[in-house]
Amino acid sequence: MQLTDAYDQQNIFAKILRDEMPSIRVFEDETTVAFMDIMPQAPGHVLVIPRVAATNVLTLSADDARAVMTTTHLLAPAVQKAMEAPGLMLAQLNGSAAGQTVPHFHMHIIPRHKGLEMLGHGTEMADIDELAKIATRIRDAI
Ligand code: AMP
Repeated sequence: MQLTDAYDQQNIFAKILRDEMPSIRVFEDETTVAFMDIMPQAPGHVLVIPRVAATNVLTLSADDARAVMTTTHLLAPAVQKAMEAPGLMLAQLNGSAAGQTVPHFHMHIIPRHKGLEMLGHGTEMADIDELAKIATRIRDAI
């Protein structure tokens, strides 16, 4: 995936936005959607995406970048509280050379606990019931 590639309307997050694929949503507004990462690098891993079709930071407008950050800023304390996390990692990858695997702009919110190593990128599918329970805790903490 090159930084200059055209937007792929069939990417997984585009399908989630069109409700063609399921997701466990924790928040949504007019410009953004946030849902549980299905292969969390740590329990409570949330993704925030813009509704607009943008592959990476180079094709995202400043307004949509602000909207994603506003939602991230709203959810970060909710994730922190729900997971009782002493640390939080925010991450955002652009292009496969940087490790991006889904070509729709997204921000990762990953709770961090000392001594609990993060899993690798997209390594292990989470238990869906467990993800749903965590999502409820996050929603309740917003
Ligand atoms: P990145 O590698 O930065 O593009 O991150 C893509 C993220 O999307 C990874 O953390 C994956 O675990 C996650 N992911 C892939 N497919 C899905 C899906 N259907 N629902 C939720 N998260 C997904």
